[in-house]
Amino acid sequence: MADANYTVLARKWRPQLFDEVVGQEHITRTLKNAIASGRIHHAFLFIGSRGIGKTTTARILAKALNCQHFDAPTMTPCGTCDNCVSITAGNNIDVIEIDGASNNGVDDVREIRDNVRMVPTSGRYKVYIIDEVHQLSSGAFNALLKTLEEPPSHAIFILATTEAHKIPATIVSRCQRYDFRRVTIGDIVVLLRSILDREGMRATDEALYAIARAAEGGVRDAESVLDELITYCDGEITFNAVFEVLGLVDWRVLHGLCDAMMAGDVARQLILVEEVVAAGKDLSQFVEEILRYFRNLLVCKAGADAELLRLPPEEIAEMQARAARFMNVKLIRLVEQFAMLTNGYDSQLAQRTALEALLIKLSKVDVEVSLDSIMEKLILLGAGGIVPGGGAAAAPVPVPRPGPNPPEAGPTESASTVPASPRRIEAPAPEPRVVAPEPVPPVPVPIPVSVPDPVAEAVDSAAIERAKAADLLRDNLGLATVMAVFRGTIVRMGTEAATPAGPEAAAEIRPPEMEATLYDADLDESDAPME
Ligand SMILES: [Zn+2]
Repeated sequence: MADANYTVLARKWRPQLFDEVVGQEHITRTLKNAIASGRIHHAFLFIGSRGIGKTTTARILAKALNCQHFDAPTMTPCGTCDNCVSITAGNNIDVIEIDGASNNGVDDVREIRDNVRMVPTSGRYKVYIIDEVHQLSSGAFNALLKTLEEPPSHAIFILATTEAHKIPATIVSRCQRYDFRRVTIGDIVVLLRSILDREGMRATDEALYAIARAAEGGVRDAESVLDELITYCDGEITFNAVFEVLGLVDWRVLHGLCDAMMAGDVARQLILVEEVVAAGKDLSQFVEEILRYFRNLLVCKAGADAELLRLPPEEIAEMQARAARFMNVKLIRLVEQFAMLTNGYDSQLAQRTALEALLIKLSKVDVEVSLDSIMEKLILLGAGGIVPGGGAAAAPVPVPRPGPNPPEAGPTESASTVPASPRRIEAPAPEPRVVAPEPVPPVPVPIPVSVPDPVAEAVDSAAIERAKAADLLRDNLGLATVMAVFRGTIVRMGTEAATPAGPEAAAEIRPPEMEATLYDADLDESDAPME
């Protein structure tokens, strides 16, 4: 049943005073000071994305200038005099709101120019609020410029725009410029909470944070979602209700997708995509949610305060458990790949195909050797390793244990510079962990034994290479060098394991250039970019 007296929240609780405008204190303070000092500029330029308070602030300024309750402009308009009431309602004769998008011609601006000469009827100032001013034609801008150059003393122009770069510099230079900010999630939550209190409604913190995140800094968007939720929910607004109203995919689906990805279960991943499509969800939004999900895992992995995530405690616990099973590099790669996927697809089918292809590719990453996955293995090896049979433990050279941070710094950097054109190579030889499957000598002896043991020496020399790679990595000698050593290790292990060199040779540290040469001859042709 429609309530004839129902007003949308955004209008009902629209700020009426400078101090009520959320998240724009840097602007309202300046405006209040200008009014208090009586130095009121005749042209203001309000810049910022939509729904963050530009028009609201413009109207408060208009009231501050024309409030009849005071003899002069005031920082705190009364809100009850005829001028305040009519300006709030948008029908004051001296406050003219113009939509720049639909009144963008020369004639429209000429009309303003002619009218602006006439003295205000009921207020002290004639206030022109031109929204979306960047939509004016160049002729209209020229006409406006003439007015701005010689404005009558009673005229105030407030130009609002979402796209400042489209405003001619000649106009900008005549205006006082105010840059509105996207409102922080915390500020939006406080605002939503205060509206709910006044409406006598309850909501969980997680629900309000979910709304604020989805609004991406836009107050109006957040308020309109809250409006829907008040109608949708009986009693308390919950985290799940926000997901339902926003058409977001259930959080559990993301957990399921993550698990299937970790398990390399392609079939399960495709079924999940099918379910999301069948539920009528928007795929580009789904990809963004996946992106946010892995970003959250990254936040957990980084050991940041879980409060940052603003999720229900049980969700945070789940995220932390999953994050522990990922390597940082892997998470970074996932985030990058999904971030790339969010651009450039406009049909649902294209999105679906691309999403499925990416999921399959990511699941098959173990068979392909990408630059990133090599880096990942290098780090594992450097940290004492994944080689089965205790290969690393048998190392005659102490394997340096890199601290938790330096090894991450390398791959993080390389991962962010490489992904645009991922270079992949087909694995020329089995990975190191497959290379040394032979049982390791029961007592690993670093001293050369009198009878050469081919197996022991192969393992020893591999350990030296690992130590070298870890050293290089720690010393930050550059990706190319590290890669050369690592590739050399693969080749050597593939070709030389059966014909081991003497112990002296194993102890000799080969210069990286030699390793690079060794590698190049064998691998060059397969180093071409894939796809
Ligand atoms: Zn008033």
